Amino acid sequence: MTEQHVRTLTVTEHDRAWHAIEGVADPDPGTILAAVLHALRINAPSVEDEQAASLRRRGAARIVAYRDPNNPRVLLCRQHGEQWQGVVPVTSNDLPDGGICTFGRLSSHECGRDVLTAT
Ligand SMILES: [Zn+2]
Repeated sequence: MTEQHVRTLTVTEHDRAWHAIEGVADPDPGTILAAVLHALRINAPSVEDEQAASLRRRGAARIVAYRDPNNPRVLLCRQHGEQWQGVVPVTSNDLPDGGICTFGRLSSHECGRDVLTAT
């Protein structure tokens, strides 16, 4: 998918951006970006906007498991968590190291499913 260009810089804006980059002593991407945006009189998103976008991305992440807020050792796969009251959804972002369903642990019908690979 190619992104559609919605605006073309004027020659003056392009020159300003170019000179802004040349004027940056510290070749850090953040410093260069800030200089270019300043030269083009464009505002970067606020910290609040960045945080809101980050939360939206997290919210859009897939639910892979459920936790019991009263017992941190309990982690349930979707099949077992969806039938339980009082558990909270967990996304793959919350489980960077994965996790194993604890349903039925210490009994003969332990689930033991890896919640990240379960469908
Ligand atoms: Zn399970």
